[in-house]
Amino acid sequence: MRYAVISDVHSNLEALGAVLHSIDTIGVDSILCLGDIVGYNADPNECVEIIRERGIVAVMGNHDERVAGIKEPHDFNPIAADAVYWTREELTEENLEYLRGLPRRLLLHDGIMMIHGWVNDTDRYIMNPHDAEVNFHMLAESGSRLCFFGHPHVAVAYIRERGEVGYSFDEQLSLEEEKEYLINPGGAGQPRDRDPRAPFLIYDSDQKTVTFHRVEYDIEKTMEKILYAGLPRTLAERLRSGW
Ligand code: ZN
Repeated sequence: MRYAVISDVHSNLEALGAVLHSIDTIGVDSILCLGDIVGYNADPNECVEIIRERGIVAVMGNHDERVAGIKEPHDFNPIAADAVYWTREELTEENLEYLRGLPRRLLLHDGIMMIHGWVNDTDRYIMNPHDAEVNFHMLAESGSRLCFFGHPHVAVAYIRERGEVGYSFDEQLSLEEEKEYLINPGGAGQPRDRDPRAPFLIYDSDQKTVTFHRVEYDIEKTMEKILYAGLPRTLAERLRSGW
């Protein structure tokens, strides 16, 4: 099976379109989305509808959760909270219902685990090998040796071998039987690694490879829509520099 994995689309229609176009060119059997379909940018309905219509398998992100009204964004910074309230008003009832129904984590039939933040907590960030270590312990209980996560918007792979956790920013990984992996494809709709191109990854379960990709998209158009919607200007500007 060949999987495409995307995360943190954040209502960025141009980024999602470019990523899906690239994925379609490569050709995959299934597309997985690690949450935060909405928040920050200006096209929430369009992005949710593409995810739904294409049958993309998704888990819930912390922004999806706030927008859906499961929690209020009291712990968000003011800019992120503004975008949550704006998005909540914008979304159709049907799309809100879809977000409310997303699972927190999913264990697929071939042992792939999908989460947004931590295995047991949608809000927490896996930011370093120590966080990864704690999550590897929780993953071991589920029997999964390969987990895809989102949330920090930075593409990275944490690798555990004989109890030691390291990390890799290599573009291509060959997965080995005796190792365990926690892998983030990067934040498609709002990259935070100073590369403004939209990221995604391809996992080939036959070849046992993971390949990280980046794709250009029409950032100026996304920025214009954010400003036109009256969302905070910072949300537009940060896309250009990829932070
Ligand atoms: Zn996010």
